[in-house]
Amino acid sequence: MKSKGLLIVISGPSGAGKGTICRELLRSYSKNIELSISVTTRKPRDGETEGVNYFFRDKEEFVRMAENGEFIEYAKVHGNYYGTPKKYVMDKLKEGKNVILEIDVQGGMKVKYVFCEAVFIFVIPPTFEELKKRIEGRGTETEKDICNRLKNAYNEIGHANNYDYIIVNDNIKDAAEKIYCILTAEKCRLSRCNIDLDKFREG
Ligand code: 5GP
Repeated sequence: MKSKGLLIVISGPSGAGKGTICRELLRSYSKNIELSISVTTRKPRDGETEGVNYFFRDKEEFVRMAENGEFIEYAKVHGNYYGTPKKYVMDKLKEGKNVILEIDVQGGMKVKYVFCEAVFIFVIPPTFEELKKRIEGRGTETEKDICNRLKNAYNEIGHANNYDYIIVNDNIKDAAEKIYCILTAEKCRLSRCNIDLDKFREG
């Protein structure tokens, strides 16, 4: 699939800080960057808002949307379903916007299959110990959820080799800046630039 905007997939284990990095990226470098908001069957956490963090739907509605082809990809993560809305992403890419998908590794690999031109970035915390601390410190999950997320984190890190870039998140601002630099460099790739060099030489 060819598109004008750049599709950037950001994955990494729960607790890596992907969400915070994406928010910082939008805050500091908002020009032409859109964050896709996923649909999920997970219940909202305290402080989460419909249409801001996620579109919260029940399982029946999610299944209906999936069957209707409304997702670019969807996956079951930590026992809940999450999906990337197709229309929003395609419309933004057509407008020339760069779109960020903050999704898990299963979703990332599905996107890779459809959008070979997308850029894939994997985020990890400085150490696994730090990751444990971050997940436990959130206080929003039950003990069973925490265990599940840690087990999944261990497995997810095994998929980092399928990504183009890796970012160690020891500082939110630095991590966001690195993503912006990747985006800028990727936009300059000759294969992405619509420049007819023969025409250019002729003047
Ligand atoms: P959380 O419940 O902590 O918000 O997210 C759990 C995991 O689901 C995170 O790894 C997040 O990146 C992933 N996720 C969020 N939205 C999507 C999506 O649309 N598709 C997929 N495959 N994963 C998603």
